Amino acid sequence: MEYHPRAMSSSLDQIGVQASRTIVHNRSAPTPSAMSSPTPSCPCLALVVECRSGFEADASQELMHAADSARITGHCDFQAHDGFVQLRLTDALPHDQVRRRLDLSRLIFARQAFHLVGELHDLPGRDRLSPVVQGILKLGERISCVLPETPDTNPGKEQSAFLKRFIPLLEEALAKAGVLRPDSLHLPRLHLFMPNPSSMLLGLSLASEGSPWPMGIPRLRMPKDAPSRSTLKLAEAFQSLLTPEEQKASLRPGLHAVDLGAAPGGWSWQLASRGLRVTAIDNGPLAPSVMATGLIEHLRADGFAWRPKKPVEWMVCDMVEQPSRIAPMMADWIATGRCRRSLFNLKLPMKRRFDEVERCRALIDQRMRSAGQKYLMRIKHLYHDREEVSCYLTRR
Ligand code: SAM
Repeated sequence: MEYHPRAMSSSLDQIGVQASRTIVHNRSAPTPSAMSSPTPSCPCLALVVECRSGFEADASQELMHAADSARITGHCDFQAHDGFVQLRLTDALPHDQVRRRLDLSRLIFARQAFHLVGELHDLPGRDRLSPVVQGILKLGERISCVLPETPDTNPGKEQSAFLKRFIPLLEEALAKAGVLRPDSLHLPRLHLFMPNPSSMLLGLSLASEGSPWPMGIPRLRMPKDAPSRSTLKLAEAFQSLLTPEEQKASLRPGLHAVDLGAAPGGWSWQLASRGLRVTAIDNGPLAPSVMATGLIEHLRADGFAWRPKKPVEWMVCDMVEQPSRIAPMMADWIATGRCRRSLFNLKLPMKRRFDEVERCRALIDQRMRSAGQKYLMRIKHLYHDREEVSCYLTRR
């Protein structure tokens, strides 16, 4: 499956008007101002991808594949369970070139990603502020914000605690130096990534390239009436895979959704909490709090065989099934117009997860092309996803 590197303007709307075969992966809300952003000028030494612990091999395979397609040479460094992967460039390249060739926002297994532009190692135990401020000033970049980041691992928690205290001091110093411009959202964001207690990686990304949340972790509260934590997966997917405009248009009272594999009802509850009417398909029972919304009809049926009488806005699917069975069914619902949009999980209990996702993408592409249907797809391994990825598919 080809990647389609684009210029730095990676707003979802722009992606959407590309050709029918274009497959895109973008989690961040678009920032139109990013399109006119001045190109950061300092050289990019490496691409750094933050991922869920245990997914380093998948993130690395995907990053190598993307770099290869973008004619960027380098080697991937990672340790299992470190929670991040680096692709060290053979030759440092100017930022704008790297950005034009490889769009970080399309990486599925990246919760967050950035261009590495500086490294500080063997930091002193005390007064780390001076060397860090110096290191940042040396970059010669103005920035819109500082994202405090560490690997999402147990050892990473120690660095997180330090960064909480450190960041306000750093922000004050950078603002004084005229480097931090919180009102200039078109400027790059500075990632302050601490892989261990004595090192800091300095990275840059545009808002359109990465997650709006440090480490790609949204802080979502578990709603008290929702019956399963799985409800947060769908809440995160809506925020991460849809633009604010798409959310507004498609998640409103009066629209109809179908939830395949609904029990105990966390996803149905998410939809109903936004006012949608839901047909929930599952042989298992739905929780009383879900039925109490009054917006949900529960049908005991097989999700692979059941069909709606009229087209619906949404079909969501969290059935635990082989991805190669789920993917063509999702494409079929969209291609035949049974639903306008679909949000689904591909479960990935296997070792070679990236290969499996590629296989599913090809199956979807095949089905949509045979229907002559233009489409848009975004895939991401979200924070609330475990051994699975979340996918958004819609017609164009
Ligand atoms: N999304 C749900 C929530 O938020 O509460 C959790 C869904 S659970 C992971 C998977 C569900 O898929 C199970 O309740 C199972 O009964 C259902 N399922 C699996 N195969 C199915 C099929 N062929 N038809 C309908 N439901 C199915």
